[in-house]
Amino acid sequence: MSKFVFVTGGVSSSLGKGLTASSLGRLLKCRGLRVTMCKLDPYINVDPGTMNPGEHGEVFVTDDGGETDLDLGHYERFIDESLNRNSNTTTGSIYKAVIEKERRGDYLGKTVQVIPHVTDEIKERVRRLARDDVDVVIVEIGGTVGDIEIVPFIEAIRQFRRDVGRDNVCYIHLTLVPYLVPSGEQKTKPTQHSVTELRSRGIQPDVIVCRSDQPISDGLKRKISLLCDVPIEAVVSAVDASSIYEIPLVLYDQGIDGYVCRTLGIDAAAHPIDLSNWEALVNRVESVERPVRIGIIGKYVNLPDAYLSVVEALRHAGFHHGVKVVFDWIDAETVPDLLGSERLHILDGVVIPGGFGERGVEGMVAAAAYTREHEIPCLGLCLGLHVMVVDAARNLAGLENANSSEVDSLTPHPVIDLMDDQLDVTDKGGTMRLGAYPAMLVPGSVVARAYGAEVVSERHRHRYEFNSRYQGRLEEAGLVCSGTSPDRRLVEFIELPQDVHPFWLGTQAHPEFKSRPDRPHPLFRELVGAALERAEGREPPLFDVDLLDTVR
Ligand code: GLN
Repeated sequence: MSKFVFVTGGVSSSLGKGLTASSLGRLLKCRGLRVTMCKLDPYINVDPGTMNPGEHGEVFVTDDGGETDLDLGHYERFIDESLNRNSNTTTGSIYKAVIEKERRGDYLGKTVQVIPHVTDEIKERVRRLARDDVDVVIVEIGGTVGDIEIVPFIEAIRQFRRDVGRDNVCYIHLTLVPYLVPSGEQKTKPTQHSVTELRSRGIQPDVIVCRSDQPISDGLKRKISLLCDVPIEAVVSAVDASSIYEIPLVLYDQGIDGYVCRTLGIDAAAHPIDLSNWEALVNRVESVERPVRIGIIGKYVNLPDAYLSVVEALRHAGFHHGVKVVFDWIDAETVPDLLGSERLHILDGVVIPGGFGERGVEGMVAAAAYTREHEIPCLGLCLGLHVMVVDAARNLAGLENANSSEVDSLTPHPVIDLMDDQLDVTDKGGTMRLGAYPAMLVPGSVVARAYGAEVVSERHRHRYEFNSRYQGRLEEAGLVCSGTSPDRRLVEFIELPQDVHPFWLGTQAHPEFKSRPDRPHPLFRELVGAALERAEGREPPLFDVDLLDTVR
């Protein structure tokens, strides 16, 4: 039978609950246990697909087309398993299901209430993940203990231990131990308060993970142990790490995985840990020094979490090449003013990521043209492919005012257009092409050589497609359509041949979702490889520290 770990957070949001949960997942996997993960999100959206990425961060897409919380990206990258839409549940999706059941008459005669109907639905979502091939289900509860919206979730996970038995559940509570400069001390009071809040809902944590910038002393651990009623070895000091990939090692040093196994009645000795691969990865991460400067030209650059998987995929590629990827976040709207400036010129590579709506698109088209003309390696992701095609249409094929009809519905040349008929979409609420789709690559193309394969599968999230009516004209102008859907109706990859440009490639998909720290995605690997060549080709090497203030 599967065991369950519930991870809650207190004191403050953004303490890294997702990374803590993911890191524990990695450690348990390194012990040979089979792990799956899920996130319970207390907000009312049915899924995060309708939220602004500039506010909430990236929408992570699973193979089955689930639009999910960005923490699922961390889960996949850390536990190296592909998850599905069942791994993310929101208050909205719970209520939607409960209300549908009520309308169907499933609760006929009953008053439908938070307890038991909503809590039963939450428990059912968690229970669903427990399969024969899963030893441990790790469940992260979004939000912070004390939030209004979190209460039904806390109640559901409280009941869960009664339902499945004490030894099958472990509660981990993550808190903040701040350092107060005036008194020169680390403070445990916020932790005490947040544990009190959790207890008031009937949950006594088994493990307390304390986030802090300095390690927590044994004295402080003793204090937390006494006041919060957990054994001292269950007070874990999770000090800030220099890379997120180091966190599993930080937690391992604190013995968290062994303790969780004991709580769950898993014989840790029968599952010895093998951390060698992860340690090798972290050594690689720490040894990268040579900088490669990548510009991310998008519209949500004020919140880098909006491009979380893109950033991680670039980092993974950097680990592979032994280089440190330095990011320059460039607001697409400012690009027209930057043309000809040092800021663009010194980029070693560019990513034009996905996005929706009109704002910033002209700047992205200008950026695509600039990288093409100045031989700067460029990777376009989804909207990125769209703007590359628009640039090729206008500037290579001479199609004046060519555009995507998403941006200009009256364009004389809608080189990117809605293809609803091809997609056989009947439900207007779900007009996006979502999830994994296969593509066939042209043998010998840049993309086929990068993947080392001719059939690939990538995740999608978009409405607009390359308009195949223009394919002939664009190809005559030099653009290569190097990958299509198996029926050849949809263009999935475009590129310039390598004798024309070192690397200029766009994909209709979001390959960033499939990159793993020890297995960089081939397209990001090739982009960073080409960027490294550009960086090395500079005489003298150009890396102006003064310009680093543009880098976050
Ligand atoms: N807005 C574009 C579309 O819907 C691109 C979407 C994206 O970049 N994910 O097709």
